[in-house]
Formats: sequence, structure tokens, C-alpha cells
Amino acid sequence: MTLTDDRMGPTLFERSKPGRGGGKVPHPPKDALARIPAGFLRAEGARLPQVSEPELARHYVNLSRLNYSVDTGFYPLGSCTMKYNPKVNEWAARLPGFGGLHPLAPDELAQGTLQLLWELEAALAEIGGMKAVTLQPAAGAHGELTGILMIRAYHLSRGDTERCEVLVPDSAHGTNPATASMAGFKTVTIPSAADGGVDVEAFRAALGPRTAAIMITNPSTLGLFESRLCELLEAVHEAGALAYMDGANLNAIMGRFKPGEAGFDVMHINVHKTFSTPHGGGGPGAGPVGVGERLVPFLPSPRVLREADGRFRLETTGERPSSIGRVRAFAGNTGVLVRAYAYIRAHGAVGLAEVSDDAVLAANYLKTRLAAVLDVPFSRPCMHEFVASSATLKAETGIRTLDIAKRLIDYGIHPPTIYFPLTVEEALLIEPTETESLETLDSFVEAMRSIVNEAHADPDLLHSAPHSSPVRRLDETTAARQPNLRWRTMTGSQSLCPD
Ligand SMILES: *Cc1c(COP(=O)(O)O)cnc(C)c1O
Repeated sequence: MTLTDDRMGPTLFERSKPGRGGGKVPHPPKDALARIPAGFLRAEGARLPQVSEPELARHYVNLSRLNYSVDTGFYPLGSCTMKYNPKVNEWAARLPGFGGLHPLAPDELAQGTLQLLWELEAALAEIGGMKAVTLQPAAGAHGELTGILMIRAYHLSRGDTERCEVLVPDSAHGTNPATASMAGFKTVTIPSAADGGVDVEAFRAALGPRTAAIMITNPSTLGLFESRLCELLEAVHEAGALAYMDGANLNAIMGRFKPGEAGFDVMHINVHKTFSTPHGGGGPGAGPVGVGERLVPFLPSPRVLREADGRFRLETTGERPSSIGRVRAFAGNTGVLVRAYAYIRAHGAVGLAEVSDDAVLAANYLKTRLAAVLDVPFSRPCMHEFVASSATLKAETGIRTLDIAKRLIDYGIHPPTIYFPLTVEEALLIEPTETESLETLDSFVEAMRSIVNEAHADPDLLHSAPHSSPVRRLDETTAARQPNLRWRTMTGSQSLCPD
């Protein structure tokens, strides 16, 4: 069986024919090459594919049609908040004053962008119940690192040098322990309680003079709100440690719960999740970090400052020596931040609370309907996402979560997150978001019901799925261990045009 079909056409390099190309672009002056200093001239031509403009346009448009996106269909990828990205955000980000601003423009010429960043910091601080916010980090994981580095700086500034451990529950997102390790801490994993929440007793037992911080995802990766938060935060502060909240799941709680007011010292926000800026494929995001009083001195520099006369400026180098320094070039991923600002202003405070209400409602609706089709391990109401499991189906038919996910592709639906969280067997983490219609949610349930029927009637159909995609089921182990990410010239019998 071949792994791909003819929709995976040849690459541009394979289409290349010597001498073919554009030539319809305005010609440079005849002496253009002579104007370039000799040292900068290429010795040989760049090895670029030689194709005509229509070939080029078709190649990329056809590739783009193989993409699955939020603009083409339902994308219930748990933990990722794949909500619709309003087009007004794109309009705002493309306004020439934002899109065309040079990152090194002097403050006098960047007043509009600086004001937007300043106002966005204030809005995010309000939403998180935090004292101040940095917009620099490029993504959630980067925000975590920034937050933990600030916690480290805080302890060191107090001469508290023995704190070398970060406590993380076993249901945490993988980036949490990775962050703690990258910042030089030892991760101590704490098992969850039977109800999916944090096991406070286990946390208490692990807390001590070596604890620098705890990292809690709230709502958790099981889609559950941490019911023992007050107890937990009290214990953490009593032990002299700080509390980090992974705020990636803010879409369930914004406008309803402020982590800073509850006692968290620091949190990151994924604007590319909650605030509808596009993501997927690893594309640019932003992971602003909000901090409480204690961590304000350590925020990355430069911060955006507002002068008494109302003008904005960036901090100068060395202006705030307690800062942990820069974590990202310039002011962060500004284009993404403009989109987040547009989204927040379009919704307002009431609208943002409605967003989280609707996200929670959609998830609970789907969870309740899906409970008739698959296992749903936690019965209490969920937040904006929930965990289902195919453990029973696997016992009955041998069909695994992976098979269900692959088969969903044939139904034109993006699979949910699978095998995460790790603590649930054959897990599917399903996050519908607030932007999906009742009809879409219902059609997802029908697709899942139909797949479960297929699992009983024709398991082979599922083992070999997907059948409709341009790429068939891959050997995931080989794909992970020996990724082939780069095109190389094929020679001899491998080549489409054998030499
Ligand atoms: C998405 C996510 C992260 C990481 O965010 P990135 O922006 O992908 O780096 C961390 N924690 C949780 C719970 C998440 O869902």
C-alpha cells in the first residue's frame, strides 16, 4: 500500500525545468549587479526551482487545500482552544501603522503601537486579577519559563538559595515539568486525587524549605476546576513558596474567576488560545505573563511605560536592575498581540464572560450527549473541555482511541487530542469552544456514534483509516524516531526523472 495519493503532487524542485521562470516582474537596472560590492556577489546561482508563476501559484493553492483549519471545519482539539478567529482581528493586525512599523522605530514614531501594548497589558492584568503583565513571551511554554525565572529571581533576591524544587501534579501539561527543568529546578511529580483534582495531602507532604514553586493548571487538563484551591494556595505560601498557574485554560473562566485575586502569584495566558489569534502548525503565538505584587520588580525588560504627559516609551537598558532581562526580541509577537487586543475590545467585559460561559456550556452539552457513546470517566460538570475514553470499546472490539481519531478524518472532522492527559487510559480530550453551533456539536456526536458502530461491525475499516486523506496511516514510531523533514535531490532510480 502506498502512503500517499496523487494529491501529494511533486515538489517544486521536482517540477523545476532549466530556464523556466518569471521574467514578468519589473526589470532591475542593467548595471544592478555592478552596484553590488564584489564580496557580496554569489559565485554560482542560487539552487532555486525554476517554475513559471502559474505553476507556482497552483502548487501552493493546491497544497493549502490539503490543510485542515478552523475555517474549514470543526476542530475539537482538547487543550488547544481552536476557536474561530474573527476576521476583524486580521484587519486590525494589517493596518499599516501596526503591520508596517519597524521594530526599531523610535518611541516617538511608535506611539500607537506602544499605547495598544500598554492597554493590552492593563486588560490582561484586569482579566487575570494580576498587578502587571509582560507581553514578551512568544508562547505559553515560553511564558512558563519567564514566570519560573521570575520566581527564581524572587527567592534569590531574598537570599533564599535552597529552593531548588518545583511541584507539578501528574496531570500537568508536559511543558510544566519541562519548564521547571529548563530553569534549573528539580521537578517533583505529585499524583492526582481520585476525583481528578490535586491531592492536597500529597502536596503538603512534598512542600518544604526546598520548594520554590508549585505549578497548577486550572482548570486542569482533565477539564475540571480545582476545588481545593484555597487550601492549596495557603499551604504553598505558608511554606514560603510561590504559586504558578498555567492559564492556558482561561477560556473556561475569564470574566468569572481571577487567579491573581485567588492568590496565584504568576500565570501565563495563551492569547493564541483564549483570545482567538490563529495558531496551529506551531505558528506565532504569544504567552503574556501576569504577576502579583511580589514579582513585579522582576518582570522582563523593557516594559512599556506611560509618562505623566500621556506619552508612551520603552524602558531603557538597565533602567530596572531587578528585571530578569529580555526574553524575546523587541516587544514580542506584536501582530498576534494586536489581534488579541481587537478581540478583547470587540467583546468587552460582559462579552468575555459570555465567551467562557458558552465554552463551558458547549463542553457540558457534548459531554452529556457523548456519554451515551463512549466512557466519560469524570461525571461532575466539566469546564471548557472534558475527557472521554474508549477503554470499554477497546475491551469489546480491540479498537483503540488512535483508530477512532484516524477514522474521524474520513468524516471530515479534526480528531480531538488523544492519549492526553496521560492519567486516563485511551483518553480523548475534547474541547468544542464557544464558537461552534448546536448543529456542529450534534453532527460530531453522530459521527462518533457511527464510528463506534463500525468498530463492532467492521473493525478492519478502522484499523486502516484514514481512507480519504492524501496521506494514509503512518508508522508513528518511525515518524517520531526518524523524521524526514527535508527534501533532498533524488538520484538514479528514485528520481521522478531518472538520469
Ligand atoms: C497549550 C498549553 C500549554 C503550552 O502553550 P504553548 O503556547 O503551546 O507553548 C501549556 N499548558 C497547557 C495546559 C496548554 O494547554
